[in-house]
Amino acid sequence: MIRVDRGPKPEGLEAIRKVEVKRLAALAREAPPKAKDFGNRYNITRRDLWKAQGRTCCYCERRIDRLYNDVEHFRPKTRAYRGQGRPMHGYWWLAWTWANLLFACPSCNRRHKKNKFPLARGSRILPAGHRPPGPERAILIDPSGEDDPIEHIQFVPFRQAGKKEKWIPVARGGSRRGKRTIQVLKLDRPALVTDYGDHVSDLVSHHVKAIREAIHAGDGRIVAKAWRSALRTLFYRRQAFKALSHDVLDHHFPPEVRRQWGLELERP
Ligand SMILES: [Zn+2]
Repeated sequence: MIRVDRGPKPEGLEAIRKVEVKRLAALAREAPPKAKDFGNRYNITRRDLWKAQGRTCCYCERRIDRLYNDVEHFRPKTRAYRGQGRPMHGYWWLAWTWANLLFACPSCNRRHKKNKFPLARGSRILPAGHRPPGPERAILIDPSGEDDPIEHIQFVPFRQAGKKEKWIPVARGGSRRGKRTIQVLKLDRPALVTDYGDHVSDLVSHHVKAIREAIHAGDGRIVAKAWRSALRTLFYRRQAFKALSHDVLDHHFPPEVRRQWGLELERP
């Protein structure tokens, strides 16, 4: 997972938000709004989000080549599973709020995250109508939030005898939020682990090899060129799995090696 910068709010969204929040507020006075009450006017943001995210899922970073999915609400709109014993009303007033909208793949959105929104122990719940985070301490990492997801989630290599090397996401430095985010979104699901492995063997490993050979030859200019070429390809806007590529480079060329050759590993 990497940071998402949504860019400017799409034209027309604010007008829709005002009308829809007023409509839902009237319904919410009677009973918590149901899924069918929301309509889908937030979908006008779909294309902007898809483009802003380089056509990748905001959580797993898989490529999404077609605009077939719904918009993802970071704070779920209808119901929110916050952890045992807590109220389960959703964040209906944030269903059209630009800062709450993301674009996710069907697997992350519909199969794994769904309505889950765990809160830290002792956290209060954001009161209706309020702007997040307020008093609320969310556990899930918001890719568009203040924290860089790379600070919480780290990809590490894992090899079983006789098998292809795998890369799996773990909590960086024991981050609790990283751990829960991996669990809730199932970022270590088998299909993704296969995709991570293919990404490393089909793309990243060629760059690692070229940089290694340049270092072995001892020519700083060639090392710098191979490094720049790696970053240009692996961190290209529409490239999948940039956090993984970052950690593979960091693993093979740790800070002391980068310092020695004057190489900068930027955050994607
Ligand atoms: Zn995904």
